[in-house]
Amino acid sequence: MSDTIGPIDSAKVPRYAGQAGFARLPRLDQVERADIVVAGVPFDAGVSFRPGARFGPSHIRDASRLLRPFNPALDIAPFDVAQVADAGDIAVNPFDIHEAIDAIQEAALDLTRDGTRLVTIGGDHTIALPLLRAAAERHGPVALLHFDAHLDTWDTYFGAEYTHGTPFRRAFEEGIIDTEALSHVGTRGPLYGKRDLEDDRRFGFGIVTSADVYREGADQVAAKLRDRIGGRPLYISIDIDVLDPAHAPGTGTPEAGGITSRELLEILRGFNGLNLIGADVVEVAPAYDHADITGIAASHVAYDLISLIAAGELPQHVNVPDREARGNDRHAY
Ligand code: MN
Ligand code: MN
Repeated sequence: MSDTIGPIDSAKVPRYAGQAGFARLPRLDQVERADIVVAGVPFDAGVSFRPGARFGPSHIRDASRLLRPFNPALDIAPFDVAQVADAGDIAVNPFDIHEAIDAIQEAALDLTRDGTRLVTIGGDHTIALPLLRAAAERHGPVALLHFDAHLDTWDTYFGAEYTHGTPFRRAFEEGIIDTEALSHVGTRGPLYGKRDLEDDRRFGFGIVTSADVYREGADQVAAKLRDRIGGRPLYISIDIDVLDPAHAPGTGTPEAGGITSRELLEILRGFNGLNLIGADVVEVAPAYDHADITGIAASHVAYDLISLIAAGELPQHVNVPDREARGNDRHAY
């Protein structure tokens, strides 16, 4: 595939300069159609503790300048084999959570028409619900791998049903996730009560705790999860707080004892060949970040998710013949 428009040429414009889209990719309106789009959702009105994830998308994009176009771990140049573009941010109402959820669902459906795959950067975890609704409308109930310190299957907070701690319970109730293939990964930390785990089990979730990853290792964990998912359409939702606060301090509800960024990336790479149809990386809150640790981790995780999608079967391969005319030469990056 030689006709895609790649990122800006780093031999001409250094990586800390130029266009500020994810990995300095072209904007969606520059390519018109894409195999994979990255979209931001600057929304954090669903948080229960520290706010600030509305600034996650710009922070992750800024850190993503550091990425390079070849991914040796998966032996793929994702921006070569697929047209990837940045769709900008989905504008959402910060004062009306119901309206925001509807707007995210509508935008996700619009962006995924013609089979385009969507990788979303958040934003708090509330946004996973409308993203899963859109994924289910396209693919039917989807298998879900949920990386998070927390279960996010609680019922309500202060009477509110739609929050960052409840999206996967709502998704279960709405029948938009495949209860044969659900798993949390990286779970840890204190709960409100034992009932939290009983409810979660009733919804069909398996749990790979943070300690399981430490004891069994990334390869074995990935292999077990792969077996459970098989050929089902798979959605991966990654709350950056799945990482230990040492690896992701910039987040809203940090918990001690998390996995490392290396473990997370290695587990993800173990999913090569699965039918990954969409993904999100959420809960990056830059006000609590230090030295861009969290932004760098999130941008690398998003890059590996894009690489996994690019390595799989894409419904259409978009050819954009005027790449050279635009002066973008991905090979000189
Ligand atoms: Mn969490
Ligand atoms: Mn979460």
